[in-house]
Amino acid sequence: MATRRQVDASMLQGLLQSSETQEVKKGSNKSSDSKFPAFSTPVNQDILVYFPRTNVVTTENGENMLTLSAYVHDYKVGQSYGQLRCVSGLSGSEFTNMLGYDGSCPACEATQDCWDLYRKKLAAGARQYGVDPQNDPTDILKPVREKILQEMDLRGSEEYVTFPVVIIPLDANKRPTPTAASELRPVFVTWKRKRYEETILGGLENMLNKPDHPAGMFWFWKYSYNTGGKQANARDSAKSAKFAPIPEGTQVFGHLITPCETVAKDFTLVKAAEVIVANQFMYKEDIQKEVDKIMSKTRTLLELADVQEVSEIAKPALQNPLANFAIASPSAQPSQVQNLGVVQGNPVKFGKQ
Ligand SMILES: [Zn+2]
Repeated sequence: MATRRQVDASMLQGLLQSSETQEVKKGSNKSSDSKFPAFSTPVNQDILVYFPRTNVVTTENGENMLTLSAYVHDYKVGQSYGQLRCVSGLSGSEFTNMLGYDGSCPACEATQDCWDLYRKKLAAGARQYGVDPQNDPTDILKPVREKILQEMDLRGSEEYVTFPVVIIPLDANKRPTPTAASELRPVFVTWKRKRYEETILGGLENMLNKPDHPAGMFWFWKYSYNTGGKQANARDSAKSAKFAPIPEGTQVFGHLITPCETVAKDFTLVKAAEVIVANQFMYKEDIQKEVDKIMSKTRTLLELADVQEVSEIAKPALQNPLANFAIASPSAQPSQVQNLGVVQGNPVKFGKQ
């Protein structure tokens, strides 16, 4: 038994090590053209932004600011995060044929394996707590679910929008620096549509004159937060961020409007589709290769889990490597081992599949 445990530990260690040396780079570029950078979350810092009128169109009711919409899979490999455009449902045109699309999406298909692993980890966690995942009225398993959801390497696609903003350098008093006009930073922002609607369009709703779109306006994006003495990070900065239009912005910062429009004039949605990685269409074959890289740890863990389940049924006292991986202190009890590998139902309440 002890020997067997050692083998499991070293296998897991090896998996973790191999995931660290995978090819996807840390802080991988979100734009493929340095002239058109992607916005990254300011860590514990407030910024002044201007929404350029580059993508404003005239409509029957006045005008609107267009954004580029795309369905996108978020993924992670080790500590690196990235995005892949979803190609589900795309087929039948000359363009999609050229890229090899047949309506299926390799990333969507692979998420099934992620959910398999999710269910196995949940079952392992449930055994540890001695709870039936299907009968958990007080939601004892909530922390387990949250943790293993965080650990998922590839997620179902969600709608993102891309739009440009111009970041204006500020001094210590949060006013544009004297040289701001020559140090403007136009960037493409890619956010979940929900976030865009809630923060930006929602912010307009709160204004007296309720503008139809944010273009031509200055906004204060507050990413500073109370770190509680801990090291500030991008995730918490984004979580606590607040976004407010500045009603008097065009008067106070009027001298910056023309320079902002000038630096952002090439930040069109066509350019956003070309350079922002999350929006890029890839050949299906290449998507498959990326997906296989992303999924390698998940698939190895699944195989390991299957092997382990077989041997656990044969030798009920063995520990479950998934419990080891997902939860801090594994203790699969022999009495519960009979349930190993029995996946009960879908985790419907935890997210879409
Ligand atoms: Zn997809």
